Amino acid sequence: MPGWSVQIDRTRCLGCGVCVAYAPGSFAQDGEGLAVLRDPPADSLDEVRTAVDSCPTGALSLASTDVAITEREG
Ligand code: SF4
Repeated sequence: MPGWSVQIDRTRCLGCGVCVAYAPGSFAQDGEGLAVLRDPPADSLDEVRTAVDSCPTGALSLASTDVAITEREG
């Protein structure tokens, strides 16, 4: 299990595909083009962070769930 989790606010998703481009192992698009999270996510934390930071609508948020990973990343 990764030491982080991602939340997708699908009401804010435009279906642009930027998150999929940056972290295709963690994000996909459903039949409507809206972002969905792959389970389990398969990208590094840095890749996911880039995807989250690149979302044009702020639909994605990243939260740490593992102190050990936080310390390793920090
Ligand atoms: S980058 Fe944001 S707006 Fe674009 S598909 Fe992903 S969640 Fe939706």
